[in-house]
Amino acid sequence: MDDQHRGDAADHHPPGAPGAASPPGNPGSAGGSGPDGLPFLPSTREGRAGLEAVLAEPGSALIALDYDGTLSPIVADPAAAHVHPGSAAALRRLAAAVGTLAVITGRPAAQALQLGGLGSVPGIIVLGHYGWERWEGGTLSSPPAPPGVDIARRDIPGVLASAGAPEGTRVEDKGHAVAVHTRGTADPAAALARLRGPLEALAARAGLVVEPGRLVIELRPPGTDKGTALAGLVRQREALSVMFCGDDLGDLAAFAAVRELRRDGVPGLTVCSGSPEAARLAAEADLVVDGPDGVATLLTSLASLLSR
Ligand SMILES: [Mg+2]
Repeated sequence: MDDQHRGDAADHHPPGAPGAASPPGNPGSAGGSGPDGLPFLPSTREGRAGLEAVLAEPGSALIALDYDGTLSPIVADPAAAHVHPGSAAALRRLAAAVGTLAVITGRPAAQALQLGGLGSVPGIIVLGHYGWERWEGGTLSSPPAPPGVDIARRDIPGVLASAGAPEGTRVEDKGHAVAVHTRGTADPAAALARLRGPLEALAARAGLVVEPGRLVIELRPPGTDKGTALAGLVRQREALSVMFCGDDLGDLAAFAAVRELRRDGVPGLTVCSGSPEAARLAAEADLVVDGPDGVATLLTSLASLLSR
């Protein structure tokens, strides 16, 4: 990819720099301002190069997406988080057009498959529990969780009671992890702040890591994150370009992996499914779209372009 002829070095924003979250043009509007007439223009030169590489050789590209808040809207009941219909249709078309299509989620792989109907997307790979699990072609690999998860499961009710967790605090048993949600409380941010310290102490005692998210704190096994999951998949699939799309703090590791891959010569694009809760991720993204609706529009545009 030749960046020089584009004459756009001056408007390059390094990740996290002011302006990185404000792409030139409206990232959610149709206007044909991106490569090949795509109505999306990444704000960084590296991001544009990544997108151009995906478009130039889709058969060697890897597109990976987070589930909640990216493919599906954030809803009060995680068991009701279904894939946006536009994204569901686009995934099927993209599966035929790109080398690798993957979902990388903090959910159990089986749950994402069932909720999202992902099993019917040909060739899709689902990495669950931040890469701890892998589903592909109907086969699930799910190593047993370490004993610390049982300790967390057993002790969380007591920890929440001692910390004075407000009414509406909800515990989600994810099998290989346990998550505490405060979205249903009267003051979700205050409840999260109140519970963070005690839950971090429990995680340390149980040999687990704390995964912060959108009004949720998850205690999960150490050793994997979305960055190692994404980089491992890129290596294994010998992908020559990569695009990753997420909405939450857990996706920062995948964004970092894309930057690292770029340094190693693999062009890549990071996309933030934007929302008022995603400011931190948006600041590090090459492209910010308008939540799961914007993701659906982006995927649909890509699918149309690549299946032409
Ligand atoms: Mg998410």
